[in-house]
Amino acid sequence: MKRILLTFTACVAWLFFTNHKADEGMFPLSELRNLDLKKAGLRMDPIALYNPNGISQIDAIVRVGGCTGSFVSNDGLIVTNHHCAFSFVAAISDTNNNYIGKGFLAKNKNGEAQAKGLVCKITASYQDVSSDVLMGTQSTSEPLERLRIISSNIKLITERENKANPDLQCEVSEMFTGKTYVLFRYQLLKDVRLVYVPARSIGEYGGEKDNWVWPRHSGDFAFLRAYVAPDGKPAEYSLNNVPYKPKKILKINVGGIKENDFVFVLGYPGRTFRNQPAAFYEYHETRMLKYISDLYDWQIEKMESLSKGNEALQIRYAGKIKQLANTTKNYKGKLQGFRRVGLTQKKKEEEAEMNAFIQSNKALKAQYGDVISSINKLYEPIINEAPKNLFFDFIYNVSPTLQMAAAIDNYEAQFKTLNKTEKAVFLKKQIPNLKALYIRIASSMDPAFEKDALLKLINDAATLDGKNEVKSIQQFVKKFPTDVARQKEIESWFSKTKLNQKEYMLKALADSSAEIFALKDPLKAFANPLNQEINVADAVDKAREGALNALLGRYADAKNAFKQKQFIPDANATLRFTYGYIRGYYPNDGEYNAPFTTLRGVIEKEDGKDYELLEAIKDLYAAKDLGPYMHPELNDLPINFLYNLDTTGGNSGSPVMDADGNLVGVNFDRAYTATINDYAWNEAYSRSVAVDIRYVLWVIKKIAKADYLLNEMGI
Ligand code: ASP
Repeated sequence: MKRILLTFTACVAWLFFTNHKADEGMFPLSELRNLDLKKAGLRMDPIALYNPNGISQIDAIVRVGGCTGSFVSNDGLIVTNHHCAFSFVAAISDTNNNYIGKGFLAKNKNGEAQAKGLVCKITASYQDVSSDVLMGTQSTSEPLERLRIISSNIKLITERENKANPDLQCEVSEMFTGKTYVLFRYQLLKDVRLVYVPARSIGEYGGEKDNWVWPRHSGDFAFLRAYVAPDGKPAEYSLNNVPYKPKKILKINVGGIKENDFVFVLGYPGRTFRNQPAAFYEYHETRMLKYISDLYDWQIEKMESLSKGNEALQIRYAGKIKQLANTTKNYKGKLQGFRRVGLTQKKKEEEAEMNAFIQSNKALKAQYGDVISSINKLYEPIINEAPKNLFFDFIYNVSPTLQMAAAIDNYEAQFKTLNKTEKAVFLKKQIPNLKALYIRIASSMDPAFEKDALLKLINDAATLDGKNEVKSIQQFVKKFPTDVARQKEIESWFSKTKLNQKEYMLKALADSSAEIFALKDPLKAFANPLNQEINVADAVDKAREGALNALLGRYADAKNAFKQKQFIPDANATLRFTYGYIRGYYPNDGEYNAPFTTLRGVIEKEDGKDYELLEAIKDLYAAKDLGPYMHPELNDLPINFLYNLDTTGGNSGSPVMDADGNLVGVNFDRAYTATINDYAWNEAYSRSVAVDIRYVLWVIKKIAKADYLLNEMGI
């Protein structure tokens, strides 16, 4: 990786910046002992970061759904991001109580609102279980059999561990595909409540316009509280529960940090792809990223036009639009990165070099000589048939009603092949699954949106030919040759279907009844031939996945031999450490970005449209009431800051800590140029963004006037 990074830096002069830290690093806990952190600037004892035999910094870090957070009080208070709490605030909001807009503040513990469905996790311990997971795979060359063995071994290990540790949740995570597996034991916190979520105009200042952008001026923070049963064990939401007592809490550095200071982050980065082969990069660059970002753009526009002038619908769509917009902009940033860096080509060149090295060494050739060519062969149809397969991936995704129809059709197809006794067993087992699916997706059924989305996807698929042809869609468009005819047909499906009638569906999905299979439904009729094509494609996919699983394990070994060093596993939502410095950079030719923004910038950005500002903030600024947490050199209140750490999605809400391990900021985003770092990190363009803890404290004090929270955090 170092070689490739150096090449990048040399050829992208527009990004050039002196390196302090020349390598990427989302280090798993097991790697910490190999780092010279003292030299890098850490002042605390490295054992205090992670100590398997005692209490350490990691005990203050918590996974908050798909985000990260940290404990900041002995009463289970968690600080994370506004955008991580957003959907839970949306769930308690309506037109009378629009907490999304005005924010939510519990006056005391009794006023806290349940963050329904949110589960938090704390890493308790981990253990390498690679040999147990791969046991038996050596004796098969059958890809599907290999996958079956791996997943059944993982199931056995997880069951065994969960039985031995009834109060923990045990999970096996794949670190290197087909090669390394680690068992993580997590403590679960299932009762989580909203404490303080600032107004949207603070928490999301600049909204989508500023998302993935620097300079940034957002107060993207929120406070939650975790509860447990009175005996300290994890428990579902109950008023009898008591605040969780964390083993470790973070102290807050009210003095904050300044440019060039050492900082580190502990968190749960979700997914990176740095150890994937070049063909994977090609697929992402030329197919997947563009398809998804175009489709999401279309969906956002559609939801915005459908909800124009309808506040209730706007509230309903708010979370979904935010999620889609976040992804589409990120993907566009990635595409820019691919292009600017010439990443796929670089990766191909590096792989060719690696292949030449392998082929030139007899022993390595015997072991790995086929790896790269086999991977490329597997990827050829993945790339060439992507348009069809992406359509298959998204057609049900845009229409939960059609998704339900397709699920019923699939279950029915299996049901029909069974004898009488098997049928009874099947119904008992599978009808509850169908019902669970229905309950999960029923609330997102939305005929107005789905009709338009189906028409769009069908029309798109109708243009595909050759290996990408979707036969059932061709038959459909032959029958309904014009747009108007198709629209009319889709319209009639939704006027006839009972799949979105909750009462009917819950009755038809009653335990062990086959009633649902008797349903004659136009959406089911449409899904039937489509399902058959999708099932064939899925089977092909699964076989490829199995073959790739074995090949990627060997690819990683070959890469180790080529690089003559071990490299870091890709992010996989397990706890990671990353460190670096508060730093500005040159995102574009001739454009320097300073590492801090201040309240002045918040005021300057206000335009009443994309940047709406609370009167209270304007008044405080006019009165120069910026204390007591000012940045001494900037002589202003710091809002957000930049640093050259290695973070990704899932790191949202991660604490940014100073050299002594004190909290100085809450990570919430990356700069636009850093979205590509999921594929290749580089000091020149990788910058993450945090909200400065001084702004958090100022907002609590001056805007929320919630001194009790400051007291609770020892401030
Ligand atoms: N905004 C991201 C998240 O939600 C953070 C990132 O991707 O850098 O996790």
